[in-house]
Amino acid sequence: MDPRSREFKTKLDAHITDEERVRGPIDEGVYADEPDGTDPGEPGTEITRYADKAMFEAEEIADIMPQVTLLVATPDPLGAVAAMSMMYEGRVIRDLGVVTDEERIHYWSESFKTHLKAPWEAIDLHFLVEGVSRAFTHQMVRQRTAVFAQESMRFAVKEKIAARPGPIIASKRQTREAWEDAIENVWEIYNGLIGAGIPAEEARGLLPHDTLTRLHYKTNLRNLADHLGNRLCTQAQFEWRMVATALRQAIYAHGERYFSADDPSKTSNSNWQFRTLAGSSIFQPVCFSLGRCPFNADFDRGCTIRERVERGEFDLIEEAEWLADPKAGWVR
Ligand SMILES: Cc1cc2nc3c(=O)[nH]c(=O)nc-3n(C[C@H](O)[C@H](O)[C@H](O)COP(=O)(O)OP(=O)(O)OC[C@H]3O[C@@H](n4cnc5c(N)ncnc54)[C@H](O)[C@@H]3O)c2cc1C
Repeated sequence: MDPRSREFKTKLDAHITDEERVRGPIDEGVYADEPDGTDPGEPGTEITRYADKAMFEAEEIADIMPQVTLLVATPDPLGAVAAMSMMYEGRVIRDLGVVTDEERIHYWSESFKTHLKAPWEAIDLHFLVEGVSRAFTHQMVRQRTAVFAQESMRFAVKEKIAARPGPIIASKRQTREAWEDAIENVWEIYNGLIGAGIPAEEARGLLPHDTLTRLHYKTNLRNLADHLGNRLCTQAQFEWRMVATALRQAIYAHGERYFSADDPSKTSNSNWQFRTLAGSSIFQPVCFSLGRCPFNADFDRGCTIRERVERGEFDLIEEAEWLADPKAGWVR
């Protein structure tokens, strides 16, 4: 028997009272005790740790900060926006090669001045997002204008601790240590359950919301911008701000990697376009584009920048106030 399974079997046995030992199964149906010989605490002699053949070991999450890779993107993003915008003026573009860089910049800049945001949907973005909590992915997949493929914790077994505390827990030694103790304890029991033949779909129930995971995220620029606007609001969970920063870096890195002007082997030098996207104002709370705060219901939270937003004093707002302060939604 796997030593971890043996150790865990001892722990499981400690939870069985003498009365239960004599009485046997205490309930009928799926929650009844297993018949003798199939007790999950007795995995037998077979040298396999996974009860369900569909289970596999999750690839380790090496970095506990969010990591984003832009896998695929529209290769001439601002050319596509320009071509669609030109249609509004009756100009027919059949080859992006005839669109000049001046036109790309012009229509990109004009697209911020109109409510007609359809041309932004011409820019497809397919990201891999890693090192994000299950709490975060639960929120992320609420976006209906994107498609996702998430690492399954029903089948992927988390062999190593992969979790990150929130920034406020992490900032104090006592709270961080208490969190670490609890995480280690939970992970030990999770691994023990897996070793004792419990399927991951049940064992995962013990793992915390802070468990780190990964997912593919395919959207387009219009819907990314809408989503970032809402989720970069100070009342959204702080992790979004870390992920937004990583998304931005990923767009930048994609241009460097595939479209660098300095690399003659690259087919096109649209690197500057990805820099433009990464540096654009879509990476800001929605109030910056609306010119007002759209979160004013009784059930909305407070915000340290709202009063200046309502006075139109955007120049007086430092980026760090909404991007780096996890308590920015605490005021009333
Ligand atoms: C700060 C914050 C706090 C939140 N707190 C909670 C919470 O406590 N509990 C909770 O359950 N959720 C919460 N949410 C999630 C929120 O309720 C939305 O589900 C989520 O933000 C997706 O927003 P959406 O519907 O605008 O976007 P999407 O679902 O991505 O849709 C994008 C846009 O497409 C259009 N659209 C898509 N589908 C339809 C449709 N079927 N009919 C009509 N139009 C459609 C709409 O114009 C919509 O704005 C929170 C979100 C934020 C930003």
